[in-house]
Amino acid sequence: MNYVIESLRQLMGLDPSKPGPEDRRPEVVTLMAEKRRDKLTREMLHAVEAGRAQAADRHKWRNRRWATLITVNLLFVVSYYLDVQLLEGAMTASRFVGFHLADLNSALQVMLAYQHLVLNLVIGTVTVFILWLLLGGRTFCSWACPYHLLAEWAEKLHLWLAKRKWARDIKFHRGGRTIFYLFFIILTLVSGYTLFETLSPTGILSRALIYGPGLALIWVLALLAFEVFVSRRAWCRYVCPIGVTYGLVGVLSPVRVQYRVQDCHHEGDCRAICLVPHVLDVTIRGRARAVTTDIGADCTRCGLCVDICPTNSLSFKVKGLDKVL
Ligand code: SF4
Ligand code: SF4
Repeated sequence: MNYVIESLRQLMGLDPSKPGPEDRRPEVVTLMAEKRRDKLTREMLHAVEAGRAQAADRHKWRNRRWATLITVNLLFVVSYYLDVQLLEGAMTASRFVGFHLADLNSALQVMLAYQHLVLNLVIGTVTVFILWLLLGGRTFCSWACPYHLLAEWAEKLHLWLAKRKWARDIKFHRGGRTIFYLFFIILTLVSGYTLFETLSPTGILSRALIYGPGLALIWVLALLAFEVFVSRRAWCRYVCPIGVTYGLVGVLSPVRVQYRVQDCHHEGDCRAICLVPHVLDVTIRGRARAVTTDIGADCTRCGLCVDICPTNSLSFKVKGLDKVL
């Protein structure tokens, strides 16, 4: 199915479409037949996975991402405390060496609330749109959002507790996020207030880092506790409209994760670690339509699946550049 349509379907909360026998390219059918014939034993598979788990670069993308995310957020803090015009403001609205930047979802909320366009806001929104279009859309989530980092750490605690049956993982329908997205748009239009901004852990944490902690942090702690004990990564998976906004940008972005079916063992390590495992549905045996598939725009380009894949079947690519390089 077309990348744009499939990405939009998944962003709205629909399940990934499954290919029928007629949808698979002949080369994939041949490949899968060969793989069935030369199947690895369980021991061989464990050995391949163990090799990856001990590789020196097993956290390459995670480490790069954490370093970037921490640096971006610290730039706001340093600019504020040293009073330098480097990165002023907070994650929702800022200025980078004088250029106006506006978080796309916050800008949308402000425009809907006040129903008129302010030039600086338009400049900031267009600049940020182009920036995240070039960088991958939901790259914002995993490479810049301060809540993502806390939730990622909380997720490790959740998994440890869940393994011992001390925490649950209640799954909700992903379509709930689309309903929240529309709900906040309508609420902002009707009320004239940017109400989501008061609830968004992204904005709350960014402001708390720069201007000091406030009572709103209690809300962020409650969200994290919910994710640790009740539902894994619930805010990002089922609620946050920011993820939808940047996901829509990501549909057009050339930066994608690409899957190659050839060497994949279909063991599912990537799906187990992913924030949005539905985008990796293609890695399930029999789901690939072509030898290579671009992972859908709900992917945050976090690189965890690239790091964990024992067969290098997942990698980053920039669409168009592979032909040039
Ligand atoms: S979904 Fe929202 S809270 Fe989660 S990482 Fe993306 S912007 Fe941050
Ligand atoms: S598909 Fe890979 S890069 Fe994308 S969100 Fe999932 S783990 Fe991260």
